[in-house]
Amino acid sequence: MKLTGTGASEGIAVGPAFVPATGRLEPARTGIDEGEVDAELKRFEDAVEAVVAEIFETVDGLRTSGNEDEAGIFEFHMEMARDPELASAVEKRVRNLQSPEAAVLAAGEEYAAEFAAMDEYMAARADDVRDVTGQISARLMGRDASGFEALRKPSVVLAQSLAPSDTARIPKGVALAFVTAEGSRTSHVSIMARSMGIPAVVGVGPDLEAALKAKMVAVDGTEGSVITDPDRNTIAEFERVSEVFAEEREALDEYRHVEASTSEGRRIEVAANLGSASEAEDALEWGAEGVGLFRTEFLFMERDELPSEDEQYEAYAAVARAFGEKPVIIRTLDVGGDKDLPGVEQAHEDNPFLGWRGIRMSLDTPDLFKPQLRAILRAAAHGTLKVMFPMVVGVEELKAAKEILQEGRTELQEEGVEIGAVETGVMIETPAAALCAAELAAESAFFSVGTNDLVQYTLAADRGNDRLRRLQRPDHPAVLALIRQACEAAEVAGIPVGVCGEAAGEPSVIPKLIGLGVTELSMAAPSIPQAKKIVSGL
Ligand code: PEP
Ligand code: MG
Repeated sequence: MKLTGTGASEGIAVGPAFVPATGRLEPARTGIDEGEVDAELKRFEDAVEAVVAEIFETVDGLRTSGNEDEAGIFEFHMEMARDPELASAVEKRVRNLQSPEAAVLAAGEEYAAEFAAMDEYMAARADDVRDVTGQISARLMGRDASGFEALRKPSVVLAQSLAPSDTARIPKGVALAFVTAEGSRTSHVSIMARSMGIPAVVGVGPDLEAALKAKMVAVDGTEGSVITDPDRNTIAEFERVSEVFAEEREALDEYRHVEASTSEGRRIEVAANLGSASEAEDALEWGAEGVGLFRTEFLFMERDELPSEDEQYEAYAAVARAFGEKPVIIRTLDVGGDKDLPGVEQAHEDNPFLGWRGIRMSLDTPDLFKPQLRAILRAAAHGTLKVMFPMVVGVEELKAAKEILQEGRTELQEEGVEIGAVETGVMIETPAAALCAAELAAESAFFSVGTNDLVQYTLAADRGNDRLRRLQRPDHPAVLALIRQACEAAEVAGIPVGVCGEAAGEPSVIPKLIGLGVTELSMAAPSIPQAKKIVSGL
């Protein structure tokens, strides 16, 4: 069967289908009888054996296909499953008449909490522990693990929708492509797919339901089409298109490390959008001249607890070090809208995109905001960091945020902690910010236009609603007029304007943005060579 949707990330993939189940594992049976203890302990041992055997197969497959790093992750899973301390923690609980399926989940939680309190490396392993204990528990309940923890071999992920917290947890190299019923080009699943460099087709609608039973799926993220259980001829055709795509990408390689200028000699910096510090090296290889947007919220979403100031410092410092003198713009936490924050109670909102998000939430939660700003100031000692505030609608918010930044700076100086200089800027992603650009420019060192949100707020068109595709246009005259206004105000104030929304990497929009006065474009790293080529041809 053929599905069509929006081609949200270019490229071709053919592979087995993976449909994640959502929701937490809830053991139906939490207690056992005294006479069952020995038999239940044996069942636990067998479940561990089975899970280890499955993971071993995954490791083997990844090694054979040359994915050493990913193989390492799953090797850790294998060790964790066999860990004698885990076994004895479970045994103790089972002897106290807890069912093994509940015991292994509880012991896993304890472990995960211990890991989370250790250094950054170990903290990042907390979710691995939960994945492993979840698999053992699922097996004890007689089902296969079916959340993302079960995604172990390279597969095409099919889902109604994918939240950033889901995609952030998928190990590199394991998702071949995303296919979702919901979503548009600027939904976060599309943004993640582009920066992971994998194809995505979103907004396929209710047809997805029938496709969920497919064993194999072929995805064309350029055309926006998906074929389930393709026959041999179709696979051969997809492979041919895939080769052409790879050749086209290769032909752009010569542009990777070019410093792009227009024919009039206007130098345009082309930077990368990052979702985590681990993407820094790849981005540099693609030719990033800096980071125009580091989306810090993914650091908060990868797991169930909030990252500490120290953990954040490590992540920001890693990017600062990797980029050295090249500028890195760290955007403060931008949750709300379609991005939930595990670990923070968020009341239900009827219109989350018009709700408590971005700087609104940060200003209301200084306990969350100030440690983030302190972490950025500390990390700035290792490179060239700038800080940027999202969802600003007026200068009062910017002033309030800068005050908290200054408090953090004073505190750190008094504590004798090393810090670096950071410039502050705002995102122009609400019509209000564009209309108040002159006032904002007087208080900012730079602007960065977030076209994803600017389009949805200007045209009153939800960025994730695929039915509104015809309205999701960054080159709509109203949007361009607002960007023009921001560029003019910035020019008067003598500050630069970048674009970090997805429009920055769209070949047909780039010339328009440059024409309006934009001087920096920031995008998913794999789009950088093409953008440099377009700029060089203007
Ligand atoms: C934007 O809105 O254009 C943007 C870059 O921010 P995000 O996509 O994270 O909302
Ligand atoms: Mg935004």
